[in-house]
Amino acid sequence: MSPRILRQGLRVVRLFDPWGSPYCTCPLKFTLNPYTGCGHGCLYCYARSYIRGFSRPRPKARLLRDLLHDLRLLPKGALIELSASSDPYTPPEAVLGLTRKALRYIASRGFRILVVTKSDLVVRDADILLRAEASVAITITTLDDSLARKLEPGAPSPTARVEAVEKLSRLGIPVTVRLDPIIPYVNDSKESIEEVVARVAEAGALQITTSTYKARPDSLRMLSEVFPDEGAKLRELYIGKGVKTHGYYYLPPELRLHYILMVRETAFKYGLAFASCREGFKFLNTPGIHCDGSLYAYLRGCEERK
Ligand code: SF4
Repeated sequence: MSPRILRQGLRVVRLFDPWGSPYCTCPLKFTLNPYTGCGHGCLYCYARSYIRGFSRPRPKARLLRDLLHDLRLLPKGALIELSASSDPYTPPEAVLGLTRKALRYIASRGFRILVVTKSDLVVRDADILLRAEASVAITITTLDDSLARKLEPGAPSPTARVEAVEKLSRLGIPVTVRLDPIIPYVNDSKESIEEVVARVAEAGALQITTSTYKARPDSLRMLSEVFPDEGAKLRELYIGKGVKTHGYYYLPPELRLHYILMVRETAFKYGLAFASCREGFKFLNTPGIHCDGSLYAYLRGCEERK
């Protein structure tokens, strides 16, 4: 089925579109956002600029009915990511269980699953993920719980997220960690990066995926309010010296390369695969892997079929 026909017929699942980024290296996949908006409140969030009332997460109306409709249209075994523009375990999920119900439908129909989250609530759904070709990507930007409370005020602590990496890995569910984004002056020190990589390697993560913060006026303003000393320096770096690409201010290329190489070297030091996300440095990735970690879902399926 052609992507055009799919775009026209789908109700709630979407063909993944990385907001037009020319640097995206993701494989072909679909996305499902059970919620509109997100309550994790990350200062650097990219989705906030595109969605009205973003900080007020609400369940999608008729989600399960529309999902069933869409699953009948998708190619057999297609990869579905939850979620690209909200967290599938945003706070209301603990009560509503909408993501859990959606996962059940998706898994029971043989689709591959990639969960991307900042919440340890994902461990609750390990029973479903274990029955599917699934992998989980957990974002951890720092191990410093107090820094994370400023940066991602509504999200579970890094301590809880590392525990989730540990629990899922022990159960046999492949987990990658997104050290993403790296924000200059905030979480960019070699020590901070090594602390995250060493701890998640010990916890069982298979891969580190990283990227540098891409500035937009709203996120830059929020970062400057919470980190006033760093705000002026960030503006100088991004607006003064950065490069505008597809609506985002990127850091100067040599600085991006510096950060990507630093994380890469650290990942390799601890025996982890490495990829960068939307940086234009695909050649630095571990050969053969996908930046989003979805390859491990496929490999797990192959193992099970043996
Ligand atoms: S968890 Fe993701 S979608 Fe939610 S606020 Fe943070 S960056 Fe945005």
